[in-house]
Amino acid sequence: MKAMVLNETCEIETKDGVRKLPSLPLKRNPLDMTDLPDPSAGPGQVLLKVSACGVCHTELDEIEGRLAPPHFPLVLGHEVVGKVVEQGHEASKYKTGDRLGVAWIYSSCGRCRFCRRGEENLCDHFQATGLHANGGYAQYIVVSEDFAYPIPQIFSDSEAAPLLCAGVIGYRALRLSNIKPGEILGLYGFGASAHIAIQVAKYWGCKVFVFTRPGQKEHQDLASKLGADWVGATGESPPEKLDSAIDFTPVGEPVKEALRVLRKGGRVAINAIRKVNPIPELEYTQYLWHEKELKSIANVARQDALEFLPLAAKIGIRPKIQEFDLQDANEALALLKKGEMQGAGVLRIPQ
Ligand SMILES: [Zn+2]
Ligand SMILES: [Zn+2]
Repeated sequence: MKAMVLNETCEIETKDGVRKLPSLPLKRNPLDMTDLPDPSAGPGQVLLKVSACGVCHTELDEIEGRLAPPHFPLVLGHEVVGKVVEQGHEASKYKTGDRLGVAWIYSSCGRCRFCRRGEENLCDHFQATGLHANGGYAQYIVVSEDFAYPIPQIFSDSEAAPLLCAGVIGYRALRLSNIKPGEILGLYGFGASAHIAIQVAKYWGCKVFVFTRPGQKEHQDLASKLGADWVGATGESPPEKLDSAIDFTPVGEPVKEALRVLRKGGRVAINAIRKVNPIPELEYTQYLWHEKELKSIANVARQDALEFLPLAAKIGIRPKIQEFDLQDANEALALLKKGEMQGAGVLRIPQ
């Protein structure tokens, strides 16, 4: 099969041993078009012929060594849409031709306390698609049938792809923010996940206040277009206190800001794997007293994908996408890094 393969990370070791990560531009062509042996479905697995795969910032983290892959060569990509072409021994959920999606969670142990209660995202043996196992920048992928999700008919293959990452993660953040229908939600940062989360929150009848970096006119305009009841810059005070907030930013300050404008007993969910700078000191009485809560969001669980995809179809969420051929994956990643992608990037896989 044809695949765009990562053979090494682009991290740089400096003389004093401090790891220095490359900045713009992306090392020319980090991925190579390669012929790999066709995979086949093992026990409990299905083999999918991939038709589309989303391009995500996480791939940049892998390429540049912030999230170092455990082995090479590696096929990246964790927003995978394809059709079943082969079922392994004991795989019986799906039939040939069924259209399925694969998300960030590739597998978990299935036995630990977390897995047993539907928190497989916290499993010590959590495996990620396109990191621990080969992902969707390729013509085929194998995956356990328990970690693949039916794609609702209304979505094209390319539209469905970004829903599997930005959409599913945004939905988990909404769930874990404790927001209830009709309540007031604050969104800090307005990228791919937030622009889907706002559509779900509006569908639930919530009032949504969106906070961006000052001067981010394009993001603010998009937020208004998608139904935001108020838009402003992080640091401003909204017209009413928030029942819940979700912080989608990579920086620390919005966490403190969200707590400042949160009502008593409210919750701030932090949707970030890491922060590039620390959360500022939280003076207890002002920021935490009166049962205010902080909750981080880690990975996704299967329940998030199984609930979100049909909900997105019902609401009629249509992500804005920019398509590329698989062979142009390097170009797509470079655009993403420069912040010049128009909507979500999706690779079309040659059939
Ligand atoms: Zn992603
Ligand atoms: Zn487990």
